[in-house]
Amino acid sequence: MAHDSSDLPCDGDGHCMICKIKPPEEETLTCKTCVTPWHLNCLSSRPETLARVAQWECPDCSSLVSSGPPPAVRRWRGVGI
Ligand SMILES: [Zn+2]
Ligand SMILES: [Zn+2]
Repeated sequence: MAHDSSDLPCDGDGHCMICKIKPPEEETLTCKTCVTPWHLNCLSSRPETLARVAQWECPDCSSLVSSGPPPAVRRWRGVGI
C-alpha cells in the first residue's frame, strides 16, 4: 500500500500527531465514518464550507472508497471449479 499522504489524525489523548498540540474544539474536525478527530490546521485538504464539515470524511476513509476496483475489472472466472 502506497502512503502518499502525510496527513495524520489526533492520538488517543486528542493531541495532533503532526504539530503535537491539543487543538481547540473549533479547530478539530471529526470524520463522519471512523469518528476520529483531526486537526483542521494540519489537514492538507480541508472542507470548503461549514456545511461540508458535518459530512466530512478523513483522508483514510475517503481513500478507501476511491481505491476500489472499477466495475470493468470484476472477474467472473473461476466459477464452477
Ligand atoms: Zn496539528
Ligand atoms: Zn475516517
